[in-house]
Amino acid sequence: MVKLATQLVQGTNGTDDQNTGAVVPPLYLSTAFRHPGLGQSTGYDYSRLTTPTRALLEKQLATIEHGTHAFAVSSGMAAIDLVFSAFTKTGDHFIASDDLYGGSFRYFDERAERYQIPYDTWDGVDVDALLLAIQPNTRLIWLETPSNPTMKVIDIEAVSSAVHAVRPDILIAVDNTFLTPVYQQPLTLGADVVVHSATKYLGGHNDILAGAVIVADDDLGESLSQQLTTTGQNLDPFDAWLLIRSLKTLNIRMHAHTANARIVAKHLEALPGVDRVLYAGVGGMISFYLNDAYSVDQFLQNLKVGSFAESLGSVETLITIPAIQTHHDMPQAQREALGIFDNLIRVSVGLEDAQDITDDFDQAIAGAKKE
Ligand SMILES: *Cc1c(COP(=O)(O)O)cnc(C)c1O
Repeated sequence: MVKLATQLVQGTNGTDDQNTGAVVPPLYLSTAFRHPGLGQSTGYDYSRLTTPTRALLEKQLATIEHGTHAFAVSSGMAAIDLVFSAFTKTGDHFIASDDLYGGSFRYFDERAERYQIPYDTWDGVDVDALLLAIQPNTRLIWLETPSNPTMKVIDIEAVSSAVHAVRPDILIAVDNTFLTPVYQQPLTLGADVVVHSATKYLGGHNDILAGAVIVADDDLGESLSQQLTTTGQNLDPFDAWLLIRSLKTLNIRMHAHTANARIVAKHLEALPGVDRVLYAGVGGMISFYLNDAYSVDQFLQNLKVGSFAESLGSVETLITIPAIQTHHDMPQAQREALGIFDNLIRVSVGLEDAQDITDDFDQAIAGAKKE
């Protein structure tokens, strides 16, 4: 394989088989495909099964995550649902790292209640404790790193090797939304399944809702493929085409997000209104605690460059309050045990000029001081 930056830019090009010389791949919107004859297929039959545009995106997703099978679906939640529907059944048990996307917890709780697939949480640090939490019916371990929103880092390789040494049948699934394959390729670290909310960095422009599941095993790929054909939460061709386009700039965007986030994190650390900054050192996601002498609401209202909005991973700087947005459904005690207090502010550092972002924080925080 060529290097990642080249693969991202060039990997989906030159695929127009009409000899037009089109550099960029064509977009096929057809849902139906003519059969050459009885029992024959061009490889495409009906778009719930596969379409040329989605297949091209999936090939690219598999390549950049070092997998062999990828599935592009209608949202990150659809990706999570595809994994659980394909790989778990009533009576199974799973373990999830304790600090992750609030919507994932909502989904896990629903699985536990409605389908009797209970789960335990794990702190993401103590691998021996994780091994002790494994039960005979444990089927899957779900990890998100760096964690959301407190930016704890999990050693995927240590977890995968420790778990697989005792239980090769347990699937290690990693939500790789925050770092993307530019910074982390879980399948090369021993994980079995990678999941993305492609709405975030993979899409990168706040205009595509999408998800992805990637594996490097034929049997796992077959299970996912059958499940997806059955339930049909596929990504539509136009969004698949837009995502192909977005991936071309993923490498350069991720490095630019990191460069800006490092500047913003360092700047925030020195501000009197900021108690503590949480940053994994790479990627564009930062969280910080606003000092009690400042109003979170006023800070949000003062922002001019950043926007108070749900979501992350886009070129625009977005600011989220996890306690009232992404993690609102989590019981308060559980939230606070994880450090998710009402003054915790999550920043998805965008690609505006870093100075404009830090100036914006300066004025928004200074103007939020309580009387
Ligand atoms: C947003 C998000 C999801 C859910 O993805 P949607 O595209 O919103 O359905 C899952 N995991 C993480 C880490 C996310 O940030």
